[in-house]
Amino acid sequence: MNPYSLPLRALRQALVKGYQLGRAVRSPQRRTLVLNYHSVRPAQLFFNSTPTQVFEQHLEWLAAHCEVVDFAEVCGPASHKPRVAITFDDGFRDNLEFAVPLLQKYGLKATFFISTGFLERDPVILDIFARTFQTTANDFMDAEALRELFAAGMRVGAHTHSHRNLLSLSAREQEEELGRSKTILEDLLGQPIQSVAYPFGVPGKAFDLTTTQIAEALGYSRGAMVCWRGVRAQEPVFRIPRFIMVRESLAELEAIVGGAWDPIGWYQDWRFSLRASRQANKPYPLAVALLEQQAWMELVHCRILGLL
Ligand SMILES: [Zn+2]
Repeated sequence: MNPYSLPLRALRQALVKGYQLGRAVRSPQRRTLVLNYHSVRPAQLFFNSTPTQVFEQHLEWLAAHCEVVDFAEVCGPASHKPRVAITFDDGFRDNLEFAVPLLQKYGLKATFFISTGFLERDPVILDIFARTFQTTANDFMDAEALRELFAAGMRVGAHTHSHRNLLSLSAREQEEELGRSKTILEDLLGQPIQSVAYPFGVPGKAFDLTTTQIAEALGYSRGAMVCWRGVRAQEPVFRIPRFIMVRESLAELEAIVGGAWDPIGWYQDWRFSLRASRQANKPYPLAVALLEQQAWMELVHCRILGLL
């Protein structure tokens, strides 16, 4: 899914407007969610970079209005404030230069999912990113920089080795990608690596049940996907949803935390389940889909636009 496509931008704006209209009558919510940034820099932005100033506004708002928790704790009990985990993907060097000092300024921690091909300056991954983002090797952390980030108290997870779409690979190749990155990071940091984020992350498009089974067998404890909704109480731990963040305004951030964009996540869930049922050669009636999505429960909890 392209987060910048016109129809999706229009849908997101409409959901924010609906959320704002319903704010006055909405009951307080006990939500948990995970935000996902990539590059954070003041200038020469890549298409998915967050400007430093926007990132600081986000952190200031999150520190004031939310309980910022570790990604490893998102499946924990609810709190009186929204619980939010901050994550980063890929391993941009600007994370260490700009994001970590701002996180420290607000006393916050984040989890950084690293594609280990960058650390080893693997030409395969450098070439993929050079073509997509016009990046060079120096735009990414090397082993020394990652050690520095880890020593600053930040958490580290894996993001495969060469950042290919796992669904384009055989099961054997997926195992190699997920296992190699885990081993490299563990050797480098001397710590077990328990969290993984699937590259591109959209359920049914970038990973499937085979992927999550491989990750579990390799010794990971949890997996992060890209799915625009909050974390549920009984969330499968290898499919923890995250919102991609780029240049969202404070109004949009507040609406995301409040649940305005969750219907987009329900659609993404449905795509995943549909693919899984096709793989298993089983029918997937709409009624079953609705029950599985738990959309009805979220309606009861006033999570659609805050209008109920
Ligand atoms: Zn990535």
